[in-house]
Amino acid sequence: MRVLQVCAEIFPLLKTGGLADVAGALPAALALAGAQPRVLLPGFAPILAGLSNARTVATLPARGQVPAAQLLLGDLAACGVQAYVVDSPALYQREGGPYADAQQRPFTDNHLRFARLCWAAAELALGADPSWRPGLVHAHDWHAGLTPACLQAVGAHVPAAYTVHNLAYQGSFSADQYRQLGLPELYFQPDGLEFHGTLNFMKAGLHYAQHITTVSPTYAREIQHPEQGMGMDGLLRARADVLTGILNGVDEAVWHPAMDALIPANYDAGKLAGKARCKAALQQQLGLTEDAGKPIFTVVSRLTEQKGLHLVLAVLPQLIARGAQFALLGTGDAPMQDAFRAAATAHPQSILVRIGYDEPFAHQLIAGADIIMVPSHFEPCGLTQLYGLAYGTLPLVRRVGGLADTVTDCSLEALDEGRATGVVFDAFSEAGLDAGIRRALALYRRRGEWKAVQRTAMSQRHDWAEAAQQYMAVYRQALAS
Ligand code: ADP
Repeated sequence: MRVLQVCAEIFPLLKTGGLADVAGALPAALALAGAQPRVLLPGFAPILAGLSNARTVATLPARGQVPAAQLLLGDLAACGVQAYVVDSPALYQREGGPYADAQQRPFTDNHLRFARLCWAAAELALGADPSWRPGLVHAHDWHAGLTPACLQAVGAHVPAAYTVHNLAYQGSFSADQYRQLGLPELYFQPDGLEFHGTLNFMKAGLHYAQHITTVSPTYAREIQHPEQGMGMDGLLRARADVLTGILNGVDEAVWHPAMDALIPANYDAGKLAGKARCKAALQQQLGLTEDAGKPIFTVVSRLTEQKGLHLVLAVLPQLIARGAQFALLGTGDAPMQDAFRAAATAHPQSILVRIGYDEPFAHQLIAGADIIMVPSHFEPCGLTQLYGLAYGTLPLVRRVGGLADTVTDCSLEALDEGRATGVVFDAFSEAGLDAGIRRALALYRRRGEWKAVQRTAMSQRHDWAEAAQQYMAVYRQALAS
């Protein structure tokens, strides 16, 4: 089965969040499951820099005001996959990030930039590369959301699967901007890709794809209700028969404490001495009080409302008063960055805050800390709690989305039955998080039970092989529809 993955970012070349981790790991897992995957990406500078043996396979025609571009094919050796890259320096090679400028302002022509990507998928489905035509196209998140509509518009008889990694980012534009994209006018209606008078890339994916997936079974249920549905719940309920939740996996080539080259000492569930060394190194490096007995709570996250980090800010004083330490790595919301910085300045021996994006430091924090906090308001899957499990850094999470699916609370019965892997709390409030912190600290003081929970956590397998099998089943269903 020839499967074209359409996405805007891919680890390790370009990453702003979990989408890149998925895009980087899924192709190899699909190949092992018997598929022939290739990826299609925009020609951002880091992606072009990672592309070897590149050759031009086609000139993609302009569509409406979406400019013509070259389509390259080459090897993304860092990702172990062959990739088509839409080469258009005018669209993709800019200062700033992939979606916004250096001041975090979204680029004003994002509708053209990402329509260009989606049209490229349709051209490939029509045979733009005569040597490889996809049998199925799998589009990811809003950036690739128009893909199923473009496939239909060109009359390509190639089914599309569409994965929602986060329903909060929908790619919303004006009706006038829609008219620049070269798509049929008749698609711009409520029973199409129009959302209350606006163009909505996400809705296009949800409406036109043969199958929809999202990244956890609980999130698949949650988004069918108004509280989490972000306006799409009605459409998602109508399409519930083709909506599947598939948990993300952990790429063990990148995230495994026994093999991780980015951490000061390796370890596994049988020999945790290396973890103690990682913790000591962290305290030393961060200027925190060097004390093996003080639990370190960590957060590695985008700093946004979604992640519930204002709750963390609110409980920090009590956390420190209870003898714990706190280390955060993150970037995002400017007032939140300032507030965390101020907390660190006030308690330099107990709080460390690093604002920025730093892959090695993320590994060092997750290896060296004791508890990783993910108190999200909503969380489609969440990856850092999975990395926490793998590294014996127990997750303290809110019972929502993929967090609910992947962490088992240390209730007495779960402890007794050897199933507990972390601490789960319900209320999205300061009191809810604080109660979770107190339970985590109580467990931390019960050293025997703590170690047992660590071992259970580290034995959890969140395998990409398993996820790939589930995607294959979805692809077969889409092909049969
Ligand atoms: P989301 O996709 O909503 O940001 P996920 O938990 O699914 O959240 O994925 C986040 C990914 O980004 C993880 O791999 C995490 O380690 C990484 N990450 C987040 N913030 C940073 C940062 N500041 N530095 C390095 N890695 C980060």
